[in-house]
Amino acid sequence: MFYPVAEAERCTAALLLDIDPVGLARPRAGPSNAAGWLQQYVNDRPYVASSHLSVAIAAVFNSALAGNSRERPELARQAIPLEAQLPTLSSREGPQLIRQLFEPLGYAVEIQKHALDADFPEWGDSPCFSVSLEGEVRLQDLLAHLYVLLPVLDDAKHYWVGDDEVDKLLRFGAGWLREHPHQELISSRYLKRQRSLVRQALAQLSDDGQADPDDATERHQHDEEQLENPLRLGEQRIQTVLAALRESGATTVLDLGCGEGNLLRELLSEPAFRTIAGMDVSHRALETAHARLRLDTLPAAQRERITLLHGSLSYRDLRLSGYDAAVAMEVIEHIDPPRLEALEAVVFGAARPGAVIITTPNSEYNALFANLPPDQFRHRDHRFEWTREEFQEWAAGVAGRQGYHVRFQDIGSEHPTHGAPTQMGVFTR
Ligand code: SAH
Repeated sequence: MFYPVAEAERCTAALLLDIDPVGLARPRAGPSNAAGWLQQYVNDRPYVASSHLSVAIAAVFNSALAGNSRERPELARQAIPLEAQLPTLSSREGPQLIRQLFEPLGYAVEIQKHALDADFPEWGDSPCFSVSLEGEVRLQDLLAHLYVLLPVLDDAKHYWVGDDEVDKLLRFGAGWLREHPHQELISSRYLKRQRSLVRQALAQLSDDGQADPDDATERHQHDEEQLENPLRLGEQRIQTVLAALRESGATTVLDLGCGEGNLLRELLSEPAFRTIAGMDVSHRALETAHARLRLDTLPAAQRERITLLHGSLSYRDLRLSGYDAAVAMEVIEHIDPPRLEALEAVVFGAARPGAVIITTPNSEYNALFANLPPDQFRHRDHRFEWTREEFQEWAAGVAGRQGYHVRFQDIGSEHPTHGAPTQMGVFTR
């Protein structure tokens, strides 16, 4: 361990890992063919960030990884600006997978490619990348993310995987893996594709045995649309949100949980919205949005107005700062209630746009849907649906804690006792 910079405001901890490739090869029973022998001695193991680095992290940063600090316990509990530099990260799938793994956790990811050999450009690119991750997270979380995800990227674990690996995965994945859009890929690779272990891990990660959140959301999106279609509710929601945005005077707008881009399309068609960003935890939804908005063929001036961001609302994300307004249209009900506090901290506490517009179903209206059995939500992925009182109580609490005012508006035609199908809160500073 080296500390090349150690000042009151900034500290760099450099972990240098020296791996002895011969030592690695020796204990194993050797295969009989020469190529196998060569591979044991000539390989990338000493050079890339792999499960060896995870083992070193767990050994060297043991107490930090557990979230303990004797001298500064309050700092260990706090999200602080951190940067991780990984000079050699191997990803045979290319930079895309690196982004897919780290961006949903709220990191700004920078990736530098390298030629396999600068003297022989025709050999193409190296599968190794220099990566920097920047985010505002707890040190404990950064270390846990690295601990789990480095071997997942490297995809070659150096030791045997047993039952206690499932425990490790769940322990170090606590608080983030469950909501990670690629939890299945992560579990599968971390556990070296041992089916029974992967099944065990995924079952413990999900309440309802639904392993892939993308799948669940997509499959059930349809049900909700069918239910609400006759009311033209989707269209009314978009128009009401647009009106609130215009009224706020926003020119830079963030669409949080943008899904397949219904609102983004309308935002793009109004030049007053100069800069637009759509963020979603589902990579698949973003790919669909990218295709539906035809981003590849937009004229440059239009294309520059819009960015799609892969990320999760439960993690602080520097990319979300600096916008006039943020919208979360039909998104909060997809988030586990205990994680709403994180959303509050991310959106209202850290990103702090001038205006925040949130829409969510009004559960009192559900009684009026003939096809919706009582005690069922409009969408299977909904974690809750609130009455007007419940939404207003939550929103007023957020506004009070975070220094915003909030006003409420109904969306869709209003029933005298059940209210309107959708409710909206407009928060301003
Ligand atoms: N706003 C869109 C989509 C609503 S569906 C519209 O009104 O058409 C809810 C969306 O929220 C889904 O695309 C889902 O992937 C996304 N989502 C769920 N949890 C999220 C989280 N923690 N962070 C970001 N997006 C999330």
